[in-house]
Amino acid sequence: MNTYPLSVSRDMIFSSKESSLRSSMETMTSAMAGLSQLTEENVAQALAVMEITGVSRAIVTDSAGKILYDTREVGNATGYQVFYTELVEALHGNDAFFFAYQDGAFRTCAAVPVIYRSETIGAVYVYEYDRTQGEVLEGLQKSLLTISIAVGAVVLTLSTLLSKLLTSRIEQLLSAIRGVREGSYNHRADVGGHDEIAQIADEFNDLAGRLQVTEESRRRFVSDASHELKTPLATIRLLTDSILQAEDMDGDMVREFVMDIGLEAERLTNITEDLLRLTRLDSGVMEAAESVEVEPVIRRVCHSLQMPAAGRRITLEVLVENPCWVVATKGEVHQMIYNLVDNAIKYNHDGGFVRVLLSAGETWAYITVEDNGIGIPEEDLDHVFERFYRVDKARSRAAGGTGLGLSIVRDTVRRRGGTIDAGPRPGGGTVFTVRLPRERRDEP
Ligand code: ADP
Repeated sequence: MNTYPLSVSRDMIFSSKESSLRSSMETMTSAMAGLSQLTEENVAQALAVMEITGVSRAIVTDSAGKILYDTREVGNATGYQVFYTELVEALHGNDAFFFAYQDGAFRTCAAVPVIYRSETIGAVYVYEYDRTQGEVLEGLQKSLLTISIAVGAVVLTLSTLLSKLLTSRIEQLLSAIRGVREGSYNHRADVGGHDEIAQIADEFNDLAGRLQVTEESRRRFVSDASHELKTPLATIRLLTDSILQAEDMDGDMVREFVMDIGLEAERLTNITEDLLRLTRLDSGVMEAAESVEVEPVIRRVCHSLQMPAAGRRITLEVLVENPCWVVATKGEVHQMIYNLVDNAIKYNHDGGFVRVLLSAGETWAYITVEDNGIGIPEEDLDHVFERFYRVDKARSRAAGGTGLGLSIVRDTVRRRGGTIDAGPRPGGGTVFTVRLPRERRDEP
């Protein structure tokens, strides 16, 4: 800020001085034009009529460097020989110019040859010493320094304030991050503003919100799972205690109790198997997908559930509009359809029906499982896919349900890029629709 304007002003002053010195010298040389030889007399005569202004001293020498004319009154050097560098240069036939700025003063000098018929017969030398402009420049320098200091102070204050503001907001963000890291998932960063830090804070709050939801559902899941496991274990304990404490229990009764223990153990097995399936789905590790033809899987599921359905006079119907393939594993497709058809039988009336319909659009395959059973109340429809959610707990338990079947179906479907919906069936019962990305291929 300081040096640039100063050096520009200095250069401007020098160039104005150069042109003023040149014009003085030009006037002097033109006054002496026509002189074939320079002597003290003819030079004095030639220059007498003109006023030499704008210079501190002007000298005219002959070709040997002897001073013939000197404007200086005190220390007039007429008659002396001088060898100023610029003068010597001029006597060699060249123009010379020198300038310097030192101790607040401008010193400029210039010399040109006086030529008669292409011969150097002498030289004109002018010199100027200027303090006034030097003082102006010094004044400018001082003002610039004051302005620089003032601007510097303002910039420093502002940047300190700004950095304090910035660090305090980052500090707020950091304390929220630390809070969440230490397990307080309800910590949120409140930094305000619309800049990048505010954006980071928003992203962080969003992340913390998700973590909170995940953590809450994890806690709920662990507590639900332990509760589910505790019930059959408590029943087993009760049954074994009864057998052990009863002194003369008859054989049939013992067999009945042991059968109940077996049922509870089976329930435990079902729950743990379902929990393992869910953990596998949660872990994100997916088995390599293959192309699975859906119709044979539906038929196999219906065949394996034929017995329990027949036991309650429930008819199983399969309608295939068009055969189609989906990208998943056979086990996954089997599991989805099995859980849905099994539920449709479990939550049906005796003598009811279950219909499995397979249809396909351009990009999707639709598997619809429909029943005319007990139905799902409107307010429970959104929740039936949650882990351990049951509409009628007693009925689910009696039917050997774990409350995890539909969550497994939903997680599997989602992981394979599909969706699942549940809705009431007109005329009573429920309809589940699974939509999976269809693999286009020619029929084999
Ligand atoms: P469960 O092991 O209890 O069957 P699910 O996750 O498979 O667990 O189902 C959750 C709940 O949704 C069931 O307990 C039941 O109340 C309800 N449900 C599921 N399918 C049907 C259906 N086809 N008809 C009526 N209710 C159903």
